[in-house]
Amino acid sequence: MKTLIRNGRVVTASDDYHADILIEDEVVTVIGAKLELEVDHVIEAANRLVIPGGIDPHTHMELPFGGTQASDDFRTGTIAAAYGGTTSIIDFAVQYQGQSLLEGLDNWHAKAEGKAAIDYGFHLITTELVDRQIEEMYTVMDEGVTSFKLFMAYPGVFLVDDATIFRAMSAAGKRGGLICMHAENGVVINEIIKRALQEGRTAPKYHALTRPTIAEAEGVHRAIAISEMAEAPVYIVHLSSTDALNQVRQARDRGLPAFAETCPQYLFLSVENYNEPGFEGAKYVMTPPLRERSNQDELWKGLKMDDLQVISTDHCPFCFKEQKELGLTDFTKIPNGAPGVENRIPLIFNGGVIENRISLNRFVELTSTAAAKIFGMFPKKGTIAVGSDADIVIFDPEAEQTISVRTSHMNVDYNPYEGKKIRGAVVTVLSRGRVIIEDGRYKGRPGDGQFLKRGACAADF
Ligand SMILES: [Zn+2]
Repeated sequence: MKTLIRNGRVVTASDDYHADILIEDEVVTVIGAKLELEVDHVIEAANRLVIPGGIDPHTHMELPFGGTQASDDFRTGTIAAAYGGTTSIIDFAVQYQGQSLLEGLDNWHAKAEGKAAIDYGFHLITTELVDRQIEEMYTVMDEGVTSFKLFMAYPGVFLVDDATIFRAMSAAGKRGGLICMHAENGVVINEIIKRALQEGRTAPKYHALTRPTIAEAEGVHRAIAISEMAEAPVYIVHLSSTDALNQVRQARDRGLPAFAETCPQYLFLSVENYNEPGFEGAKYVMTPPLRERSNQDELWKGLKMDDLQVISTDHCPFCFKEQKELGLTDFTKIPNGAPGVENRIPLIFNGGVIENRISLNRFVELTSTAAAKIFGMFPKKGTIAVGSDADIVIFDPEAEQTISVRTSHMNVDYNPYEGKKIRGAVVTVLSRGRVIIEDGRYKGRPGDGQFLKRGACAADF
């Protein structure tokens, strides 16, 4: 099977030129000017950007949380991702307390098996790691799961102590693995929450008011300090505030291998959303919470200056009806999370490139290339190059669209960006050479997505 993408403007993290791209089966085999070739299928891309498929390294399909589970499964969630120009996700498998690491991983393989529309990898959320489990950690890494996520938040569920963090970082670091950290002082936060509930403060906005930015900054500081002692890199997930960003900046200025991602919700939404009428603020209950608007410019600066390397979504949708409503009388019962996997690339193109905050190359780097490098998938993923997987998005930079739950494909009954008008739209999406989105329709088959066996962290440090 030979496919030719013709006359497009090819943009990667480093290049920007007009060319034709020949795809044979699953990979790019020729890139050149005016290719005259016999092919099975031609895709016309004049006046379009041709960019590497997006990589979203932070999603939670079907995640059990607070007595319910995220409303997208691996089928609906990955189809929605494809519509939004994302061709790889890294989701989070969970090892619960009392389980082996491999048991946790197997459970998530079973959830995804035969359902994914795009390629997918896993990080492993680790809630227990004693010395005798280190060998098992290396087995997990040999199976292509080279990153682990630890929590400083959610005591009694996910939280691990500093000893476990140190042990995990030391062990993973020795073999090129990476620890992803939910950095927030959950122990102190729980005390603040207790006080709020005692005072009768139960509305959604108290989710934000009980999780101050300093709790996040303390977590980031501690995570980086432990990683320095463990002589290992660290990756801070969903960084949301200036206070937390400053900790990463200081570490990177000292040359430490500290990496961090932020998410569109922290760039485009703010604490003001919690004041929407009635119980609507529950739509934005996620962790960390939305912050004061003044944090947004600093996060963009961080993205531009490479103190933040990646934009993920933390896609973890719960329907407003029945799921978010579990917390009608108590904000701590609102499942934490919001949808976003479908909106990330158009939102960042509009807010970043059209609104002149980042370059087109940096847009590609933040939404695809950097994650491929940090999470051991480059150059198979994250770029358009001879030999790379043909995960390619044809993007119309002039098209205008209005984000709405009515036109989106995520399995959830609201969109946090409802009514937002943006410029730029995904036109065609190829996953390993196969067209999966075309003319506004999904043309693939669930199960076409393959498990991504990832290698060592290959970021610059
Ligand atoms: Zn998450």
